[in-house]
Amino acid sequence: MSIVDPEFGEIKIRKSAWAKYIKFSIDTSGKLAISTPTNCSEKYVKKILEKNRTKIRDSLPVKDPNLQRARDAQKKILTKKAKEYLPYRLDFWAKKFGYEYKQLRFSHANTRWGSRSSSGTISLNIGLMKLPEALRDYVIIHELAHINHMDHSTAFWAEVGAHDPHYKYHEKALKHYTPGV
Ligand SMILES: [Zn+2]
Repeated sequence: MSIVDPEFGEIKIRKSAWAKYIKFSIDTSGKLAISTPTNCSEKYVKKILEKNRTKIRDSLPVKDPNLQRARDAQKKILTKKAKEYLPYRLDFWAKKFGYEYKQLRFSHANTRWGSRSSSGTISLNIGLMKLPEALRDYVIIHELAHINHMDHSTAFWAEVGAHDPHYKYHEKALKHYTPGV
């Protein structure tokens, strides 16, 4: 059984003897699906759908499944590139400037290019692989400098500046990019 919704398209409805409530979910292709108790009428499902429309809209990852597939593919490529390149590059700058870190983690965050935890882990976003090399290097140097300074104090920026004389320009240029895929 399925219903056709003007916004969400065809929605599959699964009736389940175990279901106590109407439950909305997103299937593997990114489409909305509904499971309901067996005695639930189509009219009632539509009513509940209407009531939850905004909430459902916000929870859908991307409305266009083709776009979602393209993003998944790009994420895969960036992850592969990041794993091949970033450990080597981080190591290069760390050795050059005498920094020690415990481990490197790869992140997919939508808002941060990198971070450094107090336990000594440096996280670098796979989205760095979309950046020009100079900006990628700047982010790595920025995170390495956080090993000595946990804040963005004058001393921190002085240290970044000692390793990257164009850091102000790079910091500004970075605002034209977003880490998210
Ligand atoms: Zn920072």
